[in-house]
Amino acid sequence: MDSSSTSAVLRPVERHIVAVLRDLDGANRRELAELTGLPRTSVTAAVASLIARGLLTESDDAAGARGPGRPAPTVRIDLTGRTVVAVELGRNRQLVTLVGFDGHILGTADIQLDLTQPFEATAAGLAAVADTVSCASGRASAMVISVAMPFRQGAGAPPIPMYAPGEAPFRRPRYPRPSWLLTDPSAALTETLGIPVAIENDVNLAALGEAGHGAARGAHTAVYLSVVPGFGAGIVIGGRLFRGAGGIAGELAHISVREDGDLCLCGNRGCLTTARRNGPSLVDDIATAFGRTISLDEVITLAADGDVTVRRWLTDLGRTMAQPLIGFVTMLNPDLLLVDSGLGPAAAPVVDGLRDTIERRTSPMTHHGLEIRPGRLTNTAIPAGAAVLAAQRHVDRLARPGPARTHGEKV
Ligand SMILES: [Zn+2]
Repeated sequence: MDSSSTSAVLRPVERHIVAVLRDLDGANRRELAELTGLPRTSVTAAVASLIARGLLTESDDAAGARGPGRPAPTVRIDLTGRTVVAVELGRNRQLVTLVGFDGHILGTADIQLDLTQPFEATAAGLAAVADTVSCASGRASAMVISVAMPFRQGAGAPPIPMYAPGEAPFRRPRYPRPSWLLTDPSAALTETLGIPVAIENDVNLAALGEAGHGAARGAHTAVYLSVVPGFGAGIVIGGRLFRGAGGIAGELAHISVREDGDLCLCGNRGCLTTARRNGPSLVDDIATAFGRTISLDEVITLAADGDVTVRRWLTDLGRTMAQPLIGFVTMLNPDLLLVDSGLGPAAAPVVDGLRDTIERRTSPMTHHGLEIRPGRLTNTAIPAGAAVLAAQRHVDRLARPGPARTHGEKV
């Protein structure tokens, strides 16, 4: 699929057509001529060239069936046969998933990478992972690495202020940041692996996955709220991730909800993540109430069975999470808040708590159009998001000036 034909420089007319198709679910040649302002003959020639090079595809489907007569073929960007290696470097588990650019999951496996190793060893480990999952279905077109920390494109993971080198931290982070992520290694990894590599925050990917293939499809402005293993938010506007000027938009865990609350590792006080005083994770917090260890699966089962204590705790959790969102939803005016799909049936009480507080503390014009519901992609939101991101980056590369190279570029 990544043949030499795709490494050719696209002509301006061709780039223009790709750029128009980037945001459409297909268009016929007449529509392309209208949308680009190009002569029909130029569009026809450019489309033929792009189809011949495997970059566009056409079909006689309903999208082109407008008006009387034979429907005009619909032209789309060709993503068939392209796959992405989604590497999830979670806090408690590492996974690799091979997924088609269309979001179809082709296979998944546990992996074990030692993230404390220097960059060279990590890059070699990632290359081995890519080779392992790619061999069964041909070479993957891209890799997306999901990390459970804020990550700035082009800069890396921001340092934790209270844990600066040479300082004695008052509380060590549970998940220290690997040194190779303190700068953005994606360009070097792209060079090493020979396919475009992107690194993205896990909650951002989950948000993008739900927007592309899950419960947020069709939403204009969707906010995905992560609860497990930590608080976070991913914002998708018009199908694209919104990362903010510094790339860390959506750091819900570090919005202060208590002016006199505990100091946080981030340097703030009373952060949402410190507001739960009984333990560092959701399950630890509920375990305190039960007086014994309890697994997330058990919490989900108890919530589904209507356990009053668990459901009450989850509803209160939703109310606490709503506090930093009150001003946010008024300013951003989203049409959808999605609650962590990993919670399964335990998401419903969280949704109730969120809705209760947001409806009580925002104006009707803000919350009338706002839907709040659980996510749908229970275990696959992150790989689905990796597929969306890889496909978007592929098309963006085609549409921008210069060689539309498929690897070895600065990304
Ligand atoms: Zn904080």
